[in-house]
Amino acid sequence: MLSVLYTDEENAFREEVREFAETVVAPEADAIEESGEYPRELLKKVGAAGYMGALLPPEYGGTGLGMVAETIIAEEISAVCPMLDVTRGVTSVYFAPPVYKFGSDEQKKTYLPSIITGDKIGAIGITEPDVGSDTAGMKTRAVKVGDDYVIDGEKRFITNGSLADFILLFAVTDPSVKARKGMSAFIFEADNPGFSVVKDYDLMGMNGLKVSHLKFERARIPASALLGEENKGFAILMDELDTERTSLAAGAVGYSRAAFEFAVKHSTEREQFGRQIRMFEGVSFKIADMAVKIDAARLLTLQTARMIEKGLPASRQGASAKLFACNAAQEICYDAVQILGGIGYMKESKTEQLFRDARLMPIGGGTAEIMQFLIQREVYKERGY
Ligand SMILES: Cc1cc2nc3c(=O)[nH]c(=O)nc-3n(C[C@H](O)[C@H](O)[C@H](O)COP(=O)(O)OP(=O)(O)OC[C@H]3O[C@@H](n4cnc5c(N)ncnc54)[C@H](O)[C@@H]3O)c2cc1C
Repeated sequence: MLSVLYTDEENAFREEVREFAETVVAPEADAIEESGEYPRELLKKVGAAGYMGALLPPEYGGTGLGMVAETIIAEEISAVCPMLDVTRGVTSVYFAPPVYKFGSDEQKKTYLPSIITGDKIGAIGITEPDVGSDTAGMKTRAVKVGDDYVIDGEKRFITNGSLADFILLFAVTDPSVKARKGMSAFIFEADNPGFSVVKDYDLMGMNGLKVSHLKFERARIPASALLGEENKGFAILMDELDTERTSLAAGAVGYSRAAFEFAVKHSTEREQFGRQIRMFEGVSFKIADMAVKIDAARLLTLQTARMIEKGLPASRQGASAKLFACNAAQEICYDAVQILGGIGYMKESKTEQLFRDARLMPIGGGTAEIMQFLIQREVYKERGY
């Protein structure tokens, strides 16, 4: 199926990334899971292989391969180490493309090359203690003082937050209107004296990922840190989210696929009542449903990636891909644990980790309920209601 959906070049690229994932990433994955240590050097290897720059042109060190290639990278790396793909994606998909699309030449030259090699780490700061799904209710303020902006506020649940060199930070610049019209985006350098890390959270899964609570207290940044135009940050945020959701959906396909393969293998090796457990419909029909969900999730993701490459509006498709792929990942990882039985619940089986890792996905990057809200809104809008 894969070969007919993708071009020959895309299929060859998948083989290349899979080889990298299996030979370079997989040998380190268990150690990351056990130690919970952030894989700084491994991320640099991902950068050196060119897998941080699919969405950026060669001029800034990227490969310019585009969104389909990005989904292939996300799927293949997630299949062996989900947390590595999340930290990679935050830097190379959520931080870098908005800088490329909306940034000045100076900003692109300053921030993109070191991000693409994995030498510097990016983050994106949207969520706050009182503001999650309702991003338009943002409270972090950026006040223009002379040639500078002064930032005050807090951001929480920020992936890569305590490690980041640069943060794509969203803040309110005009509180007299709704944040949608008064929000701006900034490139915030984390060595600013007004910046501090309140804490890193302990997570349910994704061991090794750093997700942080950040504080900005009278943090003064130059006006040149503004990304795009003042008060036009909401459009940057919306643009970024379509790409982010497509990459997250591809990642979900990756660890769904991994859990599925463990379940298929186990169902042929384990015998009960004198036969392989795959002979019981209670097991094999689960395998069938898993296969269908993986194919469908990949199709939705690929459709959105191709639309993004053609410059078509893809908000509904991006939300659909994320909703379906991330919900499917819950079900697939749950069923994989079930098919493995008791050993599936033990830390020595990879399904235990994948089940916990997958739980993030209907929350991060916009919850499943928010995806449903966006999809229905677009459905009615497309029909003129
Ligand atoms: C591990 C992790 C990493 C993250 N990384 C980042 C990051 O790098 N940068 C960043 O900015 N944020 C990040 N987030 C934050 C994430 O985007 C938010 O958690 C998410 O958008 C939900 O916001 P919330 O947690 O405040 O939940 P809330 O918005 O409070 O939602 C709570 C519940 O209410 C439901 N709900 C809310 N509004 C509606 C509605 N209108 N209709 C139906 N149901 C609704 C939600 O679906 C959810 O079930 C991360 C989160 C996690 C867990």
